[in-house]
Amino acid sequence: SPATTTAASTATSYPTTHERIQSPADTQNFLDNKFVASQATQWIDLHDPATNNLVTRVPQSTDAELRAAVDSAQRAFKPWKETSLLHRQQVMFKFVALIRENWDRLAASITLEQGKTFADAKGDVLRGLQVAETACGITTQLTGEVLEVSKDMETRSYREPLGVTAAICPFNFPAMIPLWSIPLATVTGNTIVIKPSERDPGAMMILAELCEKAGFPPGVVNVVHGAAKTVDFILDEPLIKAVSFVGSNKAGEYIYSRASANGKRVQANLGAKNHAAVLPDCNKNHALNAIAGAAFGAAGQRCMALSTCVMVGETKEWVGEIADRAKQLSVNGGFEDGADLGPVISPQAKQRIEDLIASAEEEGATIVLDGRGYKPDKYPAGNWVGPTLIANVKPHMRCYKEEIFGPVLVCLNADTVDEAIDMINANEYGNGTAIFTRSGATAGRFQREVEAGQVGINVPIPVPLPMFSFTGNKKSVAGGGANTFYGKPGLNFYTQTKTVTSLWRSEDAVATKAKVNMPTQS
Ligand code: NAD
Repeated sequence: SPATTTAASTATSYPTTHERIQSPADTQNFLDNKFVASQATQWIDLHDPATNNLVTRVPQSTDAELRAAVDSAQRAFKPWKETSLLHRQQVMFKFVALIRENWDRLAASITLEQGKTFADAKGDVLRGLQVAETACGITTQLTGEVLEVSKDMETRSYREPLGVTAAICPFNFPAMIPLWSIPLATVTGNTIVIKPSERDPGAMMILAELCEKAGFPPGVVNVVHGAAKTVDFILDEPLIKAVSFVGSNKAGEYIYSRASANGKRVQANLGAKNHAAVLPDCNKNHALNAIAGAAFGAAGQRCMALSTCVMVGETKEWVGEIADRAKQLSVNGGFEDGADLGPVISPQAKQRIEDLIASAEEEGATIVLDGRGYKPDKYPAGNWVGPTLIANVKPHMRCYKEEIFGPVLVCLNADTVDEAIDMINANEYGNGTAIFTRSGATAGRFQREVEAGQVGINVPIPVPLPMFSFTGNKKSVAGGGANTFYGKPGLNFYTQTKTVTSLWRSEDAVATKAKVNMPTQS
């Protein structure tokens, strides 16, 4: 039988360097609160993006392991659903405390496997932790409604969990995105099977260990691994009632269609091309700092990275000053002091980003700052792309049409704010946008007319905190964004409403003939 270890025995000290791990351990499945060695025949090598050293091998979980995860989650569902809300709240409090205690360890795993700087990785953890903290307030969020609809008759509504749910996660936020799902799914009484990204599952494995320590019973949270094969299993498994997906359009549109066709609820956040409109009346220094930070932070590998600027009027002259700020950023291994951005996730991603920069050059845009060929001395083998700034970009160019997902800022020019709004609205994506201006009237018009779902006014990355919801729109969500992540829509996603109508008459019925017409209570 496969080797199992208890969660507690997996605790390790966390890495603080990019040194080669001498004997990398294989990543395990997490089933019934136990780490279980996979019997996989296919493995995916995971490399540190700063060095390309092997960190671990991630299994393509076998059919039997996937089956075991779903069966475990199904077995756990009824008893978990029947625990009191206050009990689940207590588990969530413990989970929150443990995430705080293990914050550095989680962040270090992210830096090692994903590449982002340690400080940025701590932010990745915190944004997820905040969702878990908000879920602790579930006791006031889960109340239903009641109304006396006619004499002696009342209707009550209850929010009930769905059953087994699943989450399919991307590589770019290895802690935050699993934590968009785990807290709300579980605190509302569901169980969940998570498939972290095969490119950086380490943070999720630490979270799994913390789930066991926090008191989640076996089966409430299970973790399986792999790529498309695991995803197809999730999409086709009848016991799984809801699927959360965050990732690219290519995978997400397929996942949305197939899971929906199989009758599941689906929430799916997809790709982006986030624009800033830069107006001549803005606070210039604030705007330029904000743009450089939001374009190049996390090496541009954020779905809310500010990857596109529309320079309105004379602000097109400011592009050189954005480049000056970009040049000051330190591109280095994520554990190094002072590193501002780390490597991109893989050699393939680096190649794709460099190809898009080359395409911009061929199509006649101006490469103001070229990050191709950059290498920090200490990490010559990493997947490096330095900050790159491309000006005079036109909407037909590939570098504008495709999501670059790297440290590349493309700048277009517009004569007026109206032209900027039209340009932003003509783009297929609608995740986020920002405007930099001192005029309340201009900001107000922008806010009303722009079609992106998350708008920043002098705020470069307007990702809402968990009391709101992540409200991308257009091609940045599948299914019209009916089920957005966290906040009230997140609660709706993980619960179904049951309404109960009851009649308690004080006098006994005297008529002896049944009424056959539709009851209307009017
Ligand atoms: P990805 O689509 O390659 O992978 C996401 C998940 O889907 C992974 O778990 C992967 O195993 C799985 N997957 C990939 N290809 C598949 C296929 N053909 N069939 C079935 N499953 C498949 O995305 P990524 O590269 O990990 O993440 C980056 C993308 O995610 C970017 O497009 C980014 O904009 C997007 N993203 C969006 C948000 C948001 O909230 N809108 C947040 C983070 C990332």
